[in-house]
Amino acid sequence: MAFDPSSLRPLFPILSLQAHDHPLTYLDNAATTQKPLLVLDAIQDYYRNANANVHRGAHFLSDRATNRFEQARDTVARFINAPAQSHVIWTKGATEAINMVAFGLEHLLEEGDEILITSLEHHANLVPWQQLAFRTGARLRILPLTSKGEWEPEFSHYFTDRTRIFAATQISNAIGTSTPLQIMLDNAKQQGAFTLVDGAQAVAHYSIDVQTLNCDFYVFSGHKMYGPTGIGALYGKNHALDILLPYQTGGEMVRHVSYQATEFNVLPYRLEAGTPNIEGAIGLAAACDFLNIQDRPALLAWEQSLAAHVYSRLHKEGGIDIYSPEKNTTLVSLSVPNIHILDLNAYLDSQGIGVRAGSHCAHPLMAQLGVAGTLRASFACYNTLEEANRFCDVLLDAIDILGDE
Ligand code: PMP
Repeated sequence: MAFDPSSLRPLFPILSLQAHDHPLTYLDNAATTQKPLLVLDAIQDYYRNANANVHRGAHFLSDRATNRFEQARDTVARFINAPAQSHVIWTKGATEAINMVAFGLEHLLEEGDEILITSLEHHANLVPWQQLAFRTGARLRILPLTSKGEWEPEFSHYFTDRTRIFAATQISNAIGTSTPLQIMLDNAKQQGAFTLVDGAQAVAHYSIDVQTLNCDFYVFSGHKMYGPTGIGALYGKNHALDILLPYQTGGEMVRHVSYQATEFNVLPYRLEAGTPNIEGAIGLAAACDFLNIQDRPALLAWEQSLAAHVYSRLHKEGGIDIYSPEKNTTLVSLSVPNIHILDLNAYLDSQGIGVRAGSHCAHPLMAQLGVAGTLRASFACYNTLEEANRFCDVLLDAIDILGDE
């Protein structure tokens, strides 16, 4: 039997809102997902029954908060199949995690070393490496992928014995393309490079197994997988985390401090300065719990079927440039010649439909596609076929109206 999202919708109270006197149709899930009651309740319960600072105090509430916080780390570690909870460092999100690695590896880079990324990266997985290259004299190289995520085998020469870092996204946020990750990671490993996978767009849809991926670092944000904003994680192998210099220093991450020197704590605390986002960690663990009790392959198949349905309806209409793959993706990214995407966005919004119009923090990719931006409808497990059809109907109306102007 096909997956039925109607059983999930009551778990997301926000979905019953009206927007501009229309039922809210939320199709901006690649930017951030809505949060289920499980997550909202976990955060509220933390503040009602466990709020205290962690790791510091020796009293009832502090012990309770610390236990919940460390259990959350354990849940997140299991969610991505990390070998132990010490491999999970809390961060604000994917962006902070990538910056932590870029700063943490700086001491290893020399002039002439190479940092390799792909042409499909979000700015979060580009700017930190570009700036690292500026600071160290390393060279930032771009592995060209087609917008379909295709990789010419002869491009393996991009991986050289100077490649010190290879960082790639698992899925493009802008156009929904999956990258040929495993083969690229294998190439990088053969050259002895550190590898980082940007899983920001993957975690909500795919079961992640960092041990099978065999990457040195894996980063993601909670808010794109039904968890709260302001929390994410950096996974790292032991040797990879060990080699990172702390990006920030201060309290919590130390064992002993004198005016002359600091003895840092063990992992994962060594990389976590200051009071952490405790309720965020607990909320993110609740999001993992939410996903763990779902039939994840069924959810993915449903999300992909919605995107494929929209693709096929709009493709049949003609006159619309679609940049996403026809299938195996959970979003549709498009533009319409001679109509501004912001005008399309405004019309959709007036009908209660929330999508994203813009460059999706991927200016170089937009340049590669030859557009300033695209209109992106991205699906989550709670979206319905009616919503997908409504998006198509209203978009086609908008094209009729705006095309005549
Ligand atoms: N990478 C990708 C592929 C993304 O889609 C995003 C968010 N749009 C990020 C990184 C950055 O995530 P955050 O803003 O949560 O740090």
